Amino acid sequence: MKVNVMSDILKANDLLARDIENLLREKNIVSWNIMGSPGAGKTALLEKLIPMLPEHAAAAVIEGDLATSNDAERIAKTGVQSAQINTNGACHLDAAMVRSAIDTLNLDGLSLLFIENVGNLVCPSSFQLGERGRIIVSSITEGDDKPEKYPSMFKTADLVVLNKMDLEQNTNFKMGNFTRGMSATNPDASVIPVSAVTGGGFDQLLDWILQRLP
Ligand code: MG
Ligand code: ZN
Repeated sequence: MKVNVMSDILKANDLLARDIENLLREKNIVSWNIMGSPGAGKTALLEKLIPMLPEHAAAAVIEGDLATSNDAERIAKTGVQSAQINTNGACHLDAAMVRSAIDTLNLDGLSLLFIENVGNLVCPSSFQLGERGRIIVSSITEGDDKPEKYPSMFKTADLVVLNKMDLEQNTNFKMGNFTRGMSATNPDASVIPVSAVTGGGFDQLLDWILQRLP
């Protein structure tokens, strides 16, 4: 008998992810799996967005990192609950890790759960985490060819947030190339250009998030 270890791992992960999905649905919590390269600005995005959320949209954050709790500490400063997962070298989050992090949070009264994945444009996309959907943070300093180069990641996105627009004058980034790559890879995804430094584009991002609350 041929044993496909990877597909067995993914099957077990998907079962656990379904439990998480059911739990969050019961609690009326919308969760977003936030993915992107290291340094794309995933944590910076949350730091900017969370203080803008209205009272009826209380959020909590799960931070996934290889090591350190730096990002969870940054999030804690915004005043919302945060839980840190250290993957001890694993380059993605899986449903079991997220499940144990959720168990440390008080879910009562929450409307949103942001799960910041490990910075990586490859394997996080293979692991369901019980999320409602996926947000990719891609920064313009990474280049305009990322959707075509990492299709497995960009294909699964509901939203691509294009960060660091404040640096546009100083890069070779061409918006036309990026949007062409997105139309070829995932024409259904929304693309919102922002700057986590200036706050530009965040009104649109906030609307996108709020429109998807129950
Ligand atoms: Mg981070
Ligand atoms: Zn991985």
